[in-house]
Amino acid sequence: MNCIRFMLLLCAAISYAFPAVRESKLEEKYGQLAEKYLKRFYDLKTEGVPVGRKNNGNSFSEKLKQMQEFFSLNVTGKMNQATMEMMEKPRCGVYDINHYSTSPKSSAWQKMDITYRILNFTPDMAQADVERSIKRALQVWSDVTTLKFTRIYNEMSDIEISFAVGDHGDIYPFDGTRGILAHAFQPGNGTGGDAHFNEDETWTNSQRTYNLFLVAAHEFGHSLGLSHSMDPGALMYPTYSTSTDPNQFHLPQDDINAIQYLYDICTSRMSWQPDSAGGMYSSPGDWKGESSNPVLPTGPTTPSICDSNTVFDAVTTLRGEIIFFVNSFFWRKPRRALKAELHHIHRAWPSLPVGIQAAYENSLTDKVIVFKGSIYWALNAVDVVHGYPKSIYMLGFPRTVEAIDAAVHIEDLEKTYFFVADKYWSYDEKRQTMDSGFPRLIEEDFPGISGKIHATFYFKGFLYFFSGNWQIEYSMRSMRVKRVLRSNSWLGC
Ligand SMILES: [Zn+2]
Ligand SMILES: [Zn+2]
Repeated sequence: MNCIRFMLLLCAAISYAFPAVRESKLEEKYGQLAEKYLKRFYDLKTEGVPVGRKNNGNSFSEKLKQMQEFFSLNVTGKMNQATMEMMEKPRCGVYDINHYSTSPKSSAWQKMDITYRILNFTPDMAQADVERSIKRALQVWSDVTTLKFTRIYNEMSDIEISFAVGDHGDIYPFDGTRGILAHAFQPGNGTGGDAHFNEDETWTNSQRTYNLFLVAAHEFGHSLGLSHSMDPGALMYPTYSTSTDPNQFHLPQDDINAIQYLYDICTSRMSWQPDSAGGMYSSPGDWKGESSNPVLPTGPTTPSICDSNTVFDAVTTLRGEIIFFVNSFFWRKPRRALKAELHHIHRAWPSLPVGIQAAYENSLTDKVIVFKGSIYWALNAVDVVHGYPKSIYMLGFPRTVEAIDAAVHIEDLEKTYFFVADKYWSYDEKRQTMDSGFPRLIEEDFPGISGKIHATFYFKGFLYFFSGNWQIEYSMRSMRVKRVLRSNSWLGC
């Protein structure tokens, strides 16, 4: 085995405030943590490097840059809050940098029939639930490939699954609770393919941490030869998502592509038909050869930053940054950064739904208000505000309005405009009532703005109206259209 892969989850708090200690102390504390992190996941080597000598591509700052790039953070090579927050997130312990020196395919099993054995069970769950979780986690991968998993009992299998504590016979001892959660080895003889779960952690078959099915599905990705993905929507993304509903899990497209590439699935003789469970596809039989091209399985995809087909669901400012919502994701464009950061909605605000339809920042209350259908939520930087969601009819909308296309708050006027089809409403944030005389036709009050508005936000005297792949820059001073831009022009495309 040319590379040993392992996994851990650091159970540190996700959000935190910097404690009020001297800066030097902070640097000392976080510098140490960062060094430990980079050693563990980015192969930072600190031993054997002469003092004062630059170690090519292996210096702290180079490795930090690699890490920042992997997580789509602002690449500075210096520690900052966003980098710290990412390092403190629960995650898997397999290296993020690619260890394959030659072809990644050499890391795959050279066969399609894989055996597994469950060596022991965790007392945290009923035995039948452990068996079901393991079986389902393997099925995640067999559903989109021709891989077949067979459980065996009395002899050594390919994927040996066990729960263990502390030092357990390989060179990666577990470290009690709130540390390493599990690890898995890439395909190979001996320990190759094996998955070990830390018995000091609590295992569940519910949404409480740590859901065995979700962790095992990620681990078996490594057992089959996959490395980490930079796609924040992927199962193989390094950080553990506490908010993925295990019962609603569908393997994302990024993981489907990765596993199919590894096992040459596109050239195999098989047919694909929709699974009655919805969304996912399974391989029920042999491809007969006379029909047209087989339909390959699909899963949820992550939008790509400069894809000209990306249509934003909602756009808003947030304390000087601009937030662009698309399906389950949002891009966060910090004020001075050249590049936007891609995040998963559930990783930032676990109780929010995906597919936000409208959003605006209320500078009077320092909150962001987001809409989906006839309900809305108020967010502060890290949480959904207590008491939400609420009904839009409390704002004064008639029952005929079932959803809002776009919303924007104009600070100087203390008004919020809501756009629905070809009309808009004006809401007085100070009096907290809908202004009388509305709705009015958008085109009458905003000459040049017509057609479906998908999103809008206000920035430095201009309103930006997004429609499909385009945005219109509209001057509030001269009340006319200034420019037409591509919708992703803010994202460094
Ligand atoms: Zn992993
Ligand atoms: Zn182990």
